[in-house]
Amino acid sequence: MRYSHSRIELYKNCPKAFSYKYIEKPKIEEKKGIEAFLGSMVHKALEKLYTDLRFSRLDTLDDILDYYTSEWDSNFDLTIEIVREGYSKENYKEMGKRFITDYYKKYYPFDQGKTIGLEMEINLRLLDESSNPYDLLGYIDRLTMVSEDFFEIHDYKTNSHTKTQEEIEKDWQLALYTIAVKRMYPSVKKVELVWHFLDSGLEMRTTKSDKELELLGREVIASIKQIERSIKTGDFPTKESSLCNWCSFKEICPLKSHLFMLKKLPENEYLNEEGVRLVQRYLELTKQKKELSDTIDPELEKVKLALLNYAKLHNSERVYGSFGDSILVKEYINYILPEKGTRERVVFEKILKDNKLWDSVAEVNSFLFSKAVSERVIDAETLMLLEKLISKSKTPRFYPSSKK
Ligand code: SF4
Repeated sequence: MRYSHSRIELYKNCPKAFSYKYIEKPKIEEKKGIEAFLGSMVHKALEKLYTDLRFSRLDTLDDILDYYTSEWDSNFDLTIEIVREGYSKENYKEMGKRFITDYYKKYYPFDQGKTIGLEMEINLRLLDESSNPYDLLGYIDRLTMVSEDFFEIHDYKTNSHTKTQEEIEKDWQLALYTIAVKRMYPSVKKVELVWHFLDSGLEMRTTKSDKELELLGREVIASIKQIERSIKTGDFPTKESSLCNWCSFKEICPLKSHLFMLKKLPENEYLNEEGVRLVQRYLELTKQKKELSDTIDPELEKVKLALLNYAKLHNSERVYGSFGDSILVKEYINYILPEKGTRERVVFEKILKDNKLWDSVAEVNSFLFSKAVSERVIDAETLMLLEKLISKSKTPRFYPSSKK
């Protein structure tokens, strides 16, 4: 498979959505969110602006807005979905006009650099430590030459979130393109990454050192290996987030399909549907259980304390009730270890290791291991090695959520 930033990000956001889109490919009409449509129309308009500039034609703002409007009108179709309630197609269209107008006024007459490429295809091959190749495909919105050894990679963002500098530093899409640009133009010593957040009008910049790029390359390869492991094992878990609202596969996704099935039922049948009844019963019983323990627990705690005091007072470890019933009363010491990352913890662990006690107190914990696997902390290769040595079982867990 050929990888790209968007494919890898889709996997990170939801492995199941990745599987639907690139592996399972169910016959479902993929809807496009209006946000993505707006983005592509604004990108087209700015591409035209800079293409015409290369032919020494400086478009007026009206030229660009007319072009945007006609592209919008001829490309808009009914597969484009508006998820946010209360906003219309016209609202989004106007937003795009505002983005273009603000951008145009800010950068006019667009002489901040020489355009080298627009919507430029980037093919990047990364090699792992065994020289296995990983091919990535990407597109640079605009590549600009400031001087012979100084290029800029420009990216237009049309969503409403303006990233913070910290988020910019973590963003890896443009950083990855830096590697490709440096390979394509070896004379280039400096590549600056420039984000244009069109909603706020803010321009943000950063650069990446060769060391950071090397590290990034390794992280990207690790992400790809993680995907390839999922492809091999068929393990593509669902990951619920606000992005589900924009997901084309929500009607068949195991996390959402029941809801869509219910939406199709008439109301009287809805309440009798087996799943609905089971959920209602589960919630009633857990509520009753909680009410019962709310009543019983405080008294139980009082009895426990009284029993402990009694046992201490009478120097008894086992206290007897009627008919030979008894309760063993024991106190155990709980050691609270120094927190991870503190100097005390380092010294604590060193003493254990120096005294060859580490193996007897440090235990691989099945809970922590499962957590590390589900959070993808363990890289794909290591996990494949470990999986040869372990067996798995499944434990059902129930997480009720209520809108009340
Ligand atoms: S609806 Fe949500 S959980 Fe399901 S596939 Fe789409 S993004 Fe993933």
